[in-house]
Amino acid sequence: MTTAPASTLSPGELIPFPDDWDRALAIVAHPDDLEYGAAAAIAAWTAAGKQVSYLLATRGEAGIDGLAPDKAAQIREAEQHASAALVGVTSVEFLGHRDGLIEYGLPLRGDLTAAIRRHRPHLVVTFNHHDTWPGPRWNTPDHRHTGRAALDAIGDAGNRHLFADSGLEPWSGVRYAAVAGSPYASHAVDVTATLDTAVASLEAHRAYLDGLGPDNWMADARTLITSMAEQAGQRFGGRPAVAFELLLY
Ligand SMILES: [Zn+2]
Repeated sequence: MTTAPASTLSPGELIPFPDDWDRALAIVAHPDDLEYGAAAAIAAWTAAGKQVSYLLATRGEAGIDGLAPDKAAQIREAEQHASAALVGVTSVEFLGHRDGLIEYGLPLRGDLTAAIRRHRPHLVVTFNHHDTWPGPRWNTPDHRHTGRAALDAIGDAGNRHLFADSGLEPWSGVRYAAVAGSPYASHAVDVTATLDTAVASLEAHRAYLDGLGPDNWMADARTLITSMAEQAGQRFGGRPAVAFELLLY
């Protein structure tokens, strides 16, 4: 599948996501961020033979109200590994920045630059870095800072004079960034075949979902994933889809 010319589409319609890439690195703040949006697309990509790796800025230790952070971090790391395996991802790394208190700055940019140089991706997947979610609802600082730092680190990674102490060769092979959960979605991936897998990958975050409590709409994985895919599908020929804002590099 290649990118359809925008001129052939109705206004508001989502464009098929580009296919001319082999390796992706997904950079997000927390365990569960990818499962609340991108996992169905990631499952479709790995099923098509593409390689995807996960990089999480935190271990999600502040994410479960009833669990102490050191205990929560262990559980959430394990849940993220299990969740990733369900969508064909075996490389999962945690940077150990402070959950809830991630700062935009050179330490984070340096860490992400090093990761991009190690993984040498053609596509970087991130989570919504804008102030608001579609809706609009206010976004959290961790998502804003991690998303922006990831988008900035793509450029940093290609400049050998920046963060040179990593000892890694520069990498300027990133062609695209895909922002999941963005209010400015422009492209979409057909996830007809991978919706059930995506639901299972979110349900793998069992301790997190249980911690939300039964009345929280965020805890009903099937309803949430299915309705998000249907909503995106309304702009994508009626097919269940995951929508992304696509940025070019
Ligand atoms: Zn998050």
